[in-house]
Order: sequence, then structure tokens, then C-alpha cells
Amino acid sequence: MTRTVLVTGGAGYVGSHCCKAFRDAGWNVVVFDNFSRGWHDFVQFGEAFEGDLLNADDLDAAFAKYKPDAVAHFAALAYVGESVEKPGMYYENNTMGTVRLLDAMAKAGVDKIIFSSTCATYGVPEKMPMTEDLPQNPINPYGMSKLFVEKVLDDYEVAHGIRSVKLRYFNAAGASPDGEVGERHEPETHLIPLCIEGVLNDTFKLTVFGDDFDTRDGTCIRDYIHVMDLADAHLKALDYLDKGGKSDAFNLGTGTGTTVMEIVQAVERVTGKPVPRSIGPRRAGDPPALVASAEKAERILGWKPTQSDVNSVIETAYAWHKKEIARKAATAE
Ligand code: UDP
Repeated sequence: MTRTVLVTGGAGYVGSHCCKAFRDAGWNVVVFDNFSRGWHDFVQFGEAFEGDLLNADDLDAAFAKYKPDAVAHFAALAYVGESVEKPGMYYENNTMGTVRLLDAMAKAGVDKIIFSSTCATYGVPEKMPMTEDLPQNPINPYGMSKLFVEKVLDDYEVAHGIRSVKLRYFNAAGASPDGEVGERHEPETHLIPLCIEGVLNDTFKLTVFGDDFDTRDGTCIRDYIHVMDLADAHLKALDYLDKGGKSDAFNLGTGTGTTVMEIVQAVERVTGKPVPRSIGPRRAGDPPALVASAEKAERILGWKPTQSDVNSVIETAYAWHKKEIARKAATAE
């Protein structure tokens, strides 16, 4: 019998790519989204249910209607800077929203959840590459709102038998190679889309946030993971829980770090065009380096990134952004 997964935030960047992977693997997909930051045209791989995590009636109605076997929970606010300015909004939406979701799951008897966590739960790591057993000391409310959820999930397992897989993403990047979905944020703050903006838009100039870090070229090191590889990890985590796997947490990254300047140069190489830029001050809350150990996800979930080389990430992102410009021009007409 077809199995159903309820995907909160399935109309967002990572969520929509995961819906595609779930659908392609034979899952029946239901997207639960309030469309505050998600996109209606990203719901292509299942049915949409418009609802809010903070509204218990919406959740109960969705669980009653679709009777999902599992939940994949992406819906969240995800701007670090905004979380510093408006922490209450982050604890309310990300943490309390998940508490409401878990209450609805307990009520409906749904006992499996995949949770979008983040490497931001570690704060400034004391060793590299980062393994899952490192202390988690977030340095901003966004990371803390996600860490709280990790703890809440463990309590709900004790009280209600809900098993969870926490997936701690490093830097999600790239787009679906067939161009169906891709990275769209409003406003866009992420490095790769902004480098591409610099290539495609004459009036835009990238600011590199600091070149005086203790790294090989002075700019920050991050672990960029292709969103299609992330989607594959979610599918494997879903199957793992479905087969009775125990609750666990996994880092999702490649094990390879890339500096900001290396990304800039790679975008220039792939597009054949310059990325106009200037060096600016450091951005508050940016650790110098964040690189995952991907060993545990491979060992337990059998997951290995296959599309996350910098060229594949940038090629798919570039193709998507060119399409987005055409779409925006068409809607502006
Ligand atoms: N970055 C930058 N200029 C920008 C945006 C990002 O130099 O306009 C740097 C940022 O300081 C970080 C890296 O690029 O070191 C990745 O940042 P992004 O916002 O894409 O992801 P994050 O690491 O914050 O999740």
C-alpha cells in the first residue's frame, strides 16, 4: 500500500527538493505549508494543504484528512540575522511550532519524524571535521531554536514513542538539475545565489564578509552540500525510520570545506563571467570554518553525496537562476 509522508515546509527550498525525492521513490506526498515564505509553484510533487503549525486545528485537520505514516518537518524561519533581531519570532515559529506539530502527531498516533536541524546548533566548533558528538552551543537564536527542538524530540519519544531523525545540514546549495525547483529566498542572503546575481545583474556587487579569518585565504570556510544530495539523505532517513531504525542525529555535509573566495572563483569559472565584489567587515555570528564529518550518515544511513562537487552545485544553481530571471521578467510584463 502507498505510504504517505506529511511534509511541513514542503513549499520551501530544501523541502520542495525532498518532496521530489519522496515522490520519485513512491511515497504519497502532502505539503503542509502556510506559504509565508514558501512558494505555491514549488508544490509539484504532491497535494498542498495550507495550514499553520501554530494552529492546532489546522494540524488536526491535516492529520485526519491524510493519515500520514510519517512526517518530514522543514517549516521554519531560517535567517540568522533576523533571529538576532526578533528571537521571539524564531522560538515561536521554530520551537513552539514544532511542539504543536508533535502534539498533533501524538494525538493522531504518527510515530516517525525527520527533522531539519542545522550545523548552527554547534556554534563555534572545537574540532574539524565536525562529528555529531561535539558539544552543541549555538551562538544565535536561530541555532538555539533548532537545538531546543532536538531536545523536545527526545522528550516526545519518551512520552509518546515518536522516533526522530535529526538531520543537521551544512550549507545547502544548488538546484534540481531538471530545473523544476531551485533556490528562491526573498530576500536572498546566501553566497552562491548572490555570486550568480553579480554575474547576471550589472548593478549588483557582492560583499565578501571578512578576509582576515584564520583560513587559507582569509575568508570563511563552509561545507556546501547539493540540495539533491540532501534530498537523498532525507529519503534514506525516512526509509530508516520506516524500517524501525532508532532515533539518531546526522550531519549532512561533504567533509570538504570551500572558502568564500574559492566559491567566487568557481562561479567565475563556470559562468565565464566576473563576479564584481568588494571586501567588507565580518558578519556577526559567522564562525571561521564549518566542515562536516559525513562518516556517520554513510555508516548508518548508507548515504554518500554524489553531486556536491562545487562545479555541479554552481552549474545547477546558475541554470536555475537564469530561468528565474526569465520568470520574473514574464510576471513583470
Ligand atoms: N557570505 C559573504 N557575502 C555574502 C553572503 C555570504 O561573504 O553576501 C559568506 C558568509 O560570511 C559565509 C559564507 O559566505 O562565510 C556562506 O554564507 P551563507 O549566508 O550562504 O550561508 P551560512 O553559512 O550563513 O549558512
